[in-house]
Amino acid sequence: MPDTSGYGYDIRDDDTLVGDDNSSVSSLGSASTLVSEGANPGRRLPNIRPHIDHRVDVVIIGSGITAVGVALSILPLMASRGMAPNVFVLEAMGLCHEGATQHDALMSFLPCRVFRPDGGLLPEKVLDFQVKNAEAVKELESKYLDAGAREFEMEELYDNDEDLEFGKRTQRPLDELYPQYGATILEGDEVPHYGPLRARGARTHTARLIRLHKLVTSIWADLRTQYANLCISTNTCVRHITLTTGSSHPYIVTSSWGSIRARHVVHATASSAPRLLPEIGLTAGWKHRLLLRPGARFPKREGKHIWALHLESHPFTVIRLPGGNDEIDELLIDWEWVSGRDHGDMLSTVDQIYSYMESVFGPEWKDAEIMPQNRSSTIGITGDSLPFVGRIPQDYTNRGVSSSEQAAVEAPFSDDGGLATPGEWISAGYNGQDTAFALLSGYAVGIQIAGMENEELEMVPGRPGGRLNDWFPKEELSLDDDRMMRANLGPLG
Ligand SMILES: Cc1cc2nc3c(=O)[nH]c(=O)nc-3n(C[C@H](O)[C@H](O)[C@H](O)COP(=O)(O)OP(=O)(O)OC[C@H]3O[C@@H](n4cnc5c(N)ncnc54)[C@H](O)[C@@H]3O)c2cc1C
Repeated sequence: MPDTSGYGYDIRDDDTLVGDDNSSVSSLGSASTLVSEGANPGRRLPNIRPHIDHRVDVVIIGSGITAVGVALSILPLMASRGMAPNVFVLEAMGLCHEGATQHDALMSFLPCRVFRPDGGLLPEKVLDFQVKNAEAVKELESKYLDAGAREFEMEELYDNDEDLEFGKRTQRPLDELYPQYGATILEGDEVPHYGPLRARGARTHTARLIRLHKLVTSIWADLRTQYANLCISTNTCVRHITLTTGSSHPYIVTSSWGSIRARHVVHATASSAPRLLPEIGLTAGWKHRLLLRPGARFPKREGKHIWALHLESHPFTVIRLPGGNDEIDELLIDWEWVSGRDHGDMLSTVDQIYSYMESVFGPEWKDAEIMPQNRSSTIGITGDSLPFVGRIPQDYTNRGVSSSEQAAVEAPFSDDGGLATPGEWISAGYNGQDTAFALLSGYAVGIQIAGMENEELEMVPGRPGGRLNDWFPKEELSLDDDRMMRANLGPLG
């Protein structure tokens, strides 16, 4: 069985609260302080548990890269108008899903999602969005150096003509659109080979590894020092949400320590989103990771190389981390299991991967397994392989409001406190390509809640400028009936 501990299946009911309205800003001035708050749930701050009369403008559920994107747009944008909405982050575990996201996340500059499931090319705006997202993450990395980003050469090896043809078909439109990130197709004698198996071809391009957890916790720490109106509560699991009538703060968000009222609720909960939104049509796939010590004959490539291999329905990546004083010489093998919940043949998949590795890299490719079992986590899957980003129509939250209230909840804007009309929002379902979508998707939700969707916004490091619609593919990612049909997973969901 895969080890799922620490990945959201044992959400605790601790009552620990990190931060309160204004009083604890100074005590949360550094990333390390924030991280240790999450790591030591025993510490109790003064009793500031809000009860049902406690009102906040925005509740963000989750504290990962999506949630930080939402906060990074709402807080400065509203401050630029002289407003300070109360933003309350409720996180079931430690900050940024602590424990689960301690891994390095792989990020490519070129789009990961190029085709629709039916084989058609995705609209240029969706491709651009992924490239802009990678650029935005890079800009933040240069501000928050803890992210420890490193550049790698990514080599996709194709061992048959069909896969090679797919690699070429993927690259053609990208060559035209993003020549600056030029990938190269290799054939014949140019194709690198390491062991008995000679690949038919390869595609190489640049990728990055980032320490997502460090990046995100550094940003939260920075935001906490800048905005007294931001509150973060870890080890606080949201149990349910109720919609009431006749209130400026219509949502009652009930967590493991009590209830608060909110104007807006943002679901930044990745694959856990269906727990609070069972109608949303998002399902969980799996991401698996093996950690091994490479054999003496495994290619070194100066620890700056990633291989992407294709084993029938299990494409997987092999990352050799650099050896050296501060890093152990490790091999990470990651793969996704899109079709769901049955882990029955997990061991046989691992066996197949090992035997394929042997044919590509030779019999001495592996020295030892470092982790006794593979680590697994769930990823949010949608039927059209694209995330859900935006306001959730009332039909899909199914919170049972009266029809007159429904009209108010779904109206696009109001002057109420400068924010959009109350609503529930989501940014989740990245289909395993979280780093390609998550940050700017979070921004997009934040801009819409701030009611600034149609404003020309200044470009700042980590966020594109202009009107939201200039860079956000709303038609493809938002949730309306057409989209819900496209994203329906059918029997899988
Ligand atoms: C081993 C591994 C390797 C990965 N590799 C890559 C990679 O190479 N590239 C890539 O792009 N992505 C990768 N990912 C995925 C990526 O790290 C995360 O899924 C991504 O950070 C998603 O960001 P997020 O903010 O949307 O969600 P998360 O970071 O998952 O945050 C969601 C948060 O919501 C919280 N939450 C859920 N339900 C509730 C509730 N009811 N109440 C309160 N809080 C709740 C959770 O505790 C969690 O902290 C990998 C994941 C794993 C585990």
